[in-house]
Order: sequence, then structure tokens, then C-alpha cells
Amino acid sequence: MTTRSETQSTLDHLLTEIEHRNPAQPEFHQAAHEVLETLAPVVAARPEYAEPGLIERLVEPERQVMFRVPWQDDQGRVRVNRGFRVEFNSALGPYKGGLRFHPSVNLGVIKFLGFEQIFKNALTGLGIGGGKGGSDFDPHGRSDAEVMRFCQSFMTELYRHIGEHTDVPAGDIGVGGREIGYLFGQYRRITNRWESGVLTGKGQGWGGSLIRPEATGYGNVLFAAAMMRERGEDLEGQTAVVSGSGNVAIYTIEKLTALGANAVTCSDSSGYVVDEKGIDLDLLKQIKEVERGRVDAYAERRGASARFVPGGRVWEVPADLALPSATQNELDENDAATLIRNGVKAVSEGANMPTTPEAVHLLQQAGVAFGPGKAANAGGVAVSALEMAQNHARTSWTAARVEEELADIMTSIHTTCHETAERYDAPGDYVTGANIAGFERVADAMLAQGVI
Ligand code: NDP
Repeated sequence: MTTRSETQSTLDHLLTEIEHRNPAQPEFHQAAHEVLETLAPVVAARPEYAEPGLIERLVEPERQVMFRVPWQDDQGRVRVNRGFRVEFNSALGPYKGGLRFHPSVNLGVIKFLGFEQIFKNALTGLGIGGGKGGSDFDPHGRSDAEVMRFCQSFMTELYRHIGEHTDVPAGDIGVGGREIGYLFGQYRRITNRWESGVLTGKGQGWGGSLIRPEATGYGNVLFAAAMMRERGEDLEGQTAVVSGSGNVAIYTIEKLTALGANAVTCSDSSGYVVDEKGIDLDLLKQIKEVERGRVDAYAERRGASARFVPGGRVWEVPADLALPSATQNELDENDAATLIRNGVKAVSEGANMPTTPEAVHLLQQAGVAFGPGKAANAGGVAVSALEMAQNHARTSWTAARVEEELADIMTSIHTTCHETAERYDAPGDYVTGANIAGFERVADAMLAQGVI
């Protein structure tokens, strides 16, 4: 029987290999470290997981597609972007994961997101594998017509790699209902098929599930509430800081408010807004979802309770709860120290990998409940899988039914992470619990299916 420390040194060696084989992909290295650094206890305890090649296969995508996306802007100028789809692991079901349109997108970013997605999807208990895609296209400031032409060109290549039984993309940063509509339209046109299960996050009149737009944010708040319950508290009367002002942030604020918490911030890449009366969601939705404006407009229109802090980070605002909901590495060691100084009780990740490893360490050491994204934000992909189920059955469920299923799934993910952490001598450590529980499910399926 190998000891934990022998196993850890094998995993460390593999991490060095990963860095050599995948140069210039720091986000992917970070995600691989985050998972592999917690697996030693389970690999040492279950010899079948130490089988040569198992973890090596897990860190190598099954398929990676990169392609040219040419399109014409409104002035008739030809623009060229790069498209990606990384099909990471399909041991549990068709590849499933969003598309991100943001100028920072590159292969390493998509690989980090796809790798995280494997374990997240496994934690939902549903039959979905892990994948992710996107482009370095920046939708900010682009007209609807430009976004449509871009989406059509993107899908003109992507369509040959996806399908309801193969790979099912959805939204992520820069990809919401508008983009999914254009992508679906082009897929339907090229294939001449009404294959509604090929994309999720569709419009509600044509195959989209009720509660899908809300699911990631709602789910994260339910996860935060479950962590608080473990501490003998609830969300009523707690002050919360939320970053971002997109899909995840908006529905995080909505659910926090519904459960009696006071969400006092939101942000975008220009800075943040703090509103001591609590964020007025109607106004935020109007500015962000209808006008596609910036958060400073919120402070201008809201009146005396709100102010805009250009370039600042929400973490400097004192709060009981912090829910990062914008992007990766947006909460660092200094931010964590500020949150701890201000008495934060729980941090729950709506975004993917928003907290740096140093910040996670600091928060956990200080006894702050920390919910990692692969568990806390899994509600979005879970409801996407429910959308696929509804499409397959050619039916649609009520909002109440979907919300109930979402609540059950989030409770089950919380329990699984909590119990797994205890089983492996790491009580209260949701990072270890989520990584090991997700890994066990995928690894068992991979072992059963042979060396492929
Ligand atoms: P949106 O595009 O709807 O919103 C993103 C928000 O984050 C915007 O306010 C944006 O501001 C801000 N943001 C993005 N990049 C940066 C940056 N580099 N610096 C500062 N602010 C930034 O995306 P979502 O809400 O869908 O996604 C947010 C996070 O949640 C991502 O990490 C995503 O991977 C994760 N997630 C999303 C799921 C979903 O269902 N949508 C599911 C699970 C996780 P600006 O407009 O100025 O760029």
C-alpha cells in the first residue's frame, strides 16, 4: 500500500509534467494544481486509482479544436478571431460546458474551464461529461448585427463537432440568450435539423428551460446558505458583497434578497458600485440586460444611497458573505486579508476559480467557510442538463418544478462535499470534498470503460 506522501510525490511529478507539456497555460496549470493537490488521500486509499495512466488520461483532453472565425463588421471590414472547443472528458455523458466570448480567451483559459467542468458536472450526479469553448471575440460595443454575423461564422465551423449526444455548449461570459439564439439559428440552418438538445440556455419559447438564466446565481446562494447552516446561521440579515453584474451576479443578488440578505455591491471591469440600501435589481437589470451599459450608470440613476468606485474591488466593502461572480483570479491574498479583517463568514464562488490559491488558503486558515466554484456554481450546468432532459422528452416543466430540482441538487452537492471531506480527514474543507467526490465518479467510469 502506498502512503499519502508517496502518492503526493507521484502527483507532484505529474504536475511538473503537465507544466512542461502545456507551456504558457498558467490558468490550466493552476486548475490542475488545485485538483491534484487534494487527491493524495483518495489515491492512496484506493489502489485502483493509482493505476498507471488514469490521472494522465484525466488531464489530457479527449479532443481540442481550434479554428478561424472570419466575420465582417458594420463598416464592411473583415475581422478574424480564433474559436476553441475543448472536449475534455466524456466518461459520464456528452461533453457539456459553456462558450466564453472575451478578449482574454486562449487555449489555456478554455482548458482550465473544461478541466473544472469535468468535476463540476460529475458532482451534479447527472449524465454529463466536461467541455468548454469560446473565442477571443469581444462583444462589448458591437452592434446586434455584428454579434449575429460573428455567431453565424463561429457556428459554421463548430457545428461539425457538436450534437445532442456528442457535445452540448451553453453560455458563459459574453454569451447569453442573444448569442445562443444566433448560434442555434445557424446550427439549425446548416444541419436542417430541429435538434433542440444541441445547445442549452435557449429562449423560453423555443426549448429553453424555465429557471436556466437564474440557476447559477440561485444555486450559489443555496450553497452559501447550506454552508451557513453548518455554522448554525442563516442568510437573514447578512450583508453580502457580490462582484460582476452579468448573468451570475444578477441572479445571485436576486436570491440573496429573496432570502433576507442585503446585497450591497456589483461591479464590472470599470469598477464597482456600493449601495447601502441594497442593490435595486430592476435598475441593474435595465442597465445591464436591456441597455447593455456600465455600472457607473447605476450609481448616477440610483440617488444618494449608491456610489461608484472607479477601478476598485468590492472586497473592500465590509460584509458577512462574499460571492465572487465575475471572472478568474479576481479575489487575491490581499482581498482575502481585507475580507477576514472585516469579519467575513463565508465565501462562495459563483465564478470559475475567482479566488487565487493563496487567498483560498488564507480564508480556510481563518475558519471562513469556502465554497469552491465546481460545487457552488454547479446549479447552472445542472439546470442545463434538466433542459436537455425536457428537450429529449419534448416537454417543458414548470418553474416551480425546476427550482425544486435545483434546490435538491444543490443540497445533495453540499452534503456530498461535506461528507467526503470528513471521510478523508478534512472536515469543513469543501475544496477537498468537491475534488475527491467529483474525481471518484469520473475515475470509476473511466476505469470501467477501459483504456480509451
Ligand atoms: P457575463 O458575461 O454575464 O458577466 C460577466 C461579468 O463579469 C460582467 O459584469 C463583466 O464585466 C465581469 N467581468 C468579466 N471579465 C472580467 C474581467 N476580466 N475583469 C473584471 N470584470 C470582468 O458572464 P456570467 O455571469 O455568465 O459569468 C460570470 C462567471 O461565472 C464566469 O467566471 C463564468 O465562467 C461563471 N459561470 C457562469 C455560469 C453561467 O451559467 N453563466 C455557470 C457557471 C459559472 P464587463 O462587462 O466589464 O466585462
